[in-house]
Amino acid sequence: MKFCKVCGRQFVPNKYKPSQNVCNDIACQKERQRQNIRTWRLKNPDYFKYTTGDDPAYIESVRQKQLLWRRAHKLRLKEYRAKYREKIRDYMREYMKKYRLKKKNISPEGNLTKKGEENAEKGLPNSQDSGNSS
Ligand SMILES: [Zn+2]
Repeated sequence: MKFCKVCGRQFVPNKYKPSQNVCNDIACQKERQRQNIRTWRLKNPDYFKYTTGDDPAYIESVRQKQLLWRRAHKLRLKEYRAKYREKIRDYMREYMKKYRLKKKNISPEGNLTKKGEENAEKGLPNSQDSGNSS
């Protein structure tokens, strides 16, 4: 027999957990949980410390973490960039081409003119094999 740390009543500890200090009363168990959380928080004071981002120490720590991550994954980033450099360049080239054509062909009223559409078709060289280069 033991005495509950919360309500002080006598209780029989669980046979699988002889170190039980709190009886099986729901109120006592809830109190035990609250105390566990409190002690955990005291041990880990910074765990739930969020800042809005204007704390210079916090910003510095984030910067340091990003730097470390980048340093640790340098090779991976390099590979990633190399892998997609061509694709991004092609994509941007096409994108700018379309963008310029669109800008050119839009009449002051904002409508695409018939003349402009023809120019757009002529202005796009190899438009059939774009995007499928892999
Ligand atoms: Zn109790």
